[in-house]
Amino acid sequence: MVEEKIKARCPRCGKLIHWEGNPYRPFCSQRCKLIDLGKWIDEKYRLPSEELPSGDEEREEEM
Ligand SMILES: [Zn+2]
Repeated sequence: MVEEKIKARCPRCGKLIHWEGNPYRPFCSQRCKLIDLGKWIDEKYRLPSEELPSGDEEREEEM
């Protein structure tokens, strides 16, 4: 019988990874994970700040 392990591709570099016991899944390594997180943060910074609350500043004074 062939034991099939769950495999997945790293969304960053496309490398085949072992799913089981991989703390960085779905990435192949911590590096790819950090790079992907950095990408998301970068995209966040690029977003226009239209959703900034305008009435919360007064609340901060009360606290
Ligand atoms: Zn990778």
